[in-house]
Amino acid sequence: MKRALITGAAGFIGSHLCERFIQEGYFVFGLDNFLTGNPANIALLLENPNFHFMEYNVTNYLFVSQELDLILHFACPASPVDYLKYPIQTMKVDSLGTLHALGLAKLKRARFILASTSEVYGDPGIHPQPESYWGNVNPIGVRSVYDEAKRFSEALTMAYFREHHLDTRIARIFNTYGPRMRAKDGRVVPNFIMQALKGEPLTIYGDGSQTRSFCFIHDLVEGIFRLSTHEELNGQIFNLGNPDEHEIRDFAHIILNLTHSSSSISFHPLPPDDPKRRKPDITLAKTILGWEPKISLPDGLLQTIGWFQSKNMGGSTS
Ligand code: UDP
Repeated sequence: MKRALITGAAGFIGSHLCERFIQEGYFVFGLDNFLTGNPANIALLLENPNFHFMEYNVTNYLFVSQELDLILHFACPASPVDYLKYPIQTMKVDSLGTLHALGLAKLKRARFILASTSEVYGDPGIHPQPESYWGNVNPIGVRSVYDEAKRFSEALTMAYFREHHLDTRIARIFNTYGPRMRAKDGRVVPNFIMQALKGEPLTIYGDGSQTRSFCFIHDLVEGIFRLSTHEELNGQIFNLGNPDEHEIRDFAHIILNLTHSSSSISFHPLPPDDPKRRKPDITLAKTILGWEPKISLPDGLLQTIGWFQSKNMGGSTS
């Protein structure tokens, strides 16, 4: 039986990945310190004999005695609100945490997959963004704690690939949404859905002309699974996201329609360094992984809205 270690196992993406790898016949070691992860996300997994959970902060030295085939480093606050709340933990998990995860991968000769982000492109100067674009990041701005830490993680991953010939792969993940996002994580999808369901105004930052392209979690997990299990991808980098681009003000109306909400819209200041446009060029993932998103925005949003209704409208909104 193959073994995968997944950091950030109780997170939104991490918990879906743990489930997928177990379904595919892997034994999964899941690590999380619950800084932004949620114990409820792994409650069912804890009963699975092919899942072993360790409550652990990967910024500390990382060791497991068993052999490992794969290490997926997915621990990190990922919502702007979270990484502004935990700036130093964010920088630690994507520097010390990445170093420790890479060190363990080297020891075990395991394949290493880094969860990177479209934020490495910053406020992009070219559109859509291909993997070859170097980005436009403010190195000392408030978002730099995330952007630069992920850029450092990428550089460190490539150093292990070049110096130690480790089999590494980097996923640059664009905006992803779906069940298990935290209702109060501050990102636009949970904010708008919860506001619409409660009849509160939808909070648009700036004039709402900025764009994002939203990928449903199951599509993303399929992409990460392919990237992790495909042979001969050593040292490669892939954008994973849905190129279906929307202005945030249009996105607000999509949410209002799908929730049948009569909420109003309110306008608020744009956070500093908020990227103006974002859309992945996924030519590489299409060509090499044979992957592209399949779930339309309305279908994915309806599933997500249903999940928020069932989990969060009864009073508990973590
Ligand atoms: N946004 C918004 N209202 C909200 C939350 C976010 O208008 O209540 C905007 C935000 O300024 C950004 C976009 O929606 O332009 C996506 O923000 P999110 O925090 O989801 O993720 P980002 O793509 O910025 O990492």
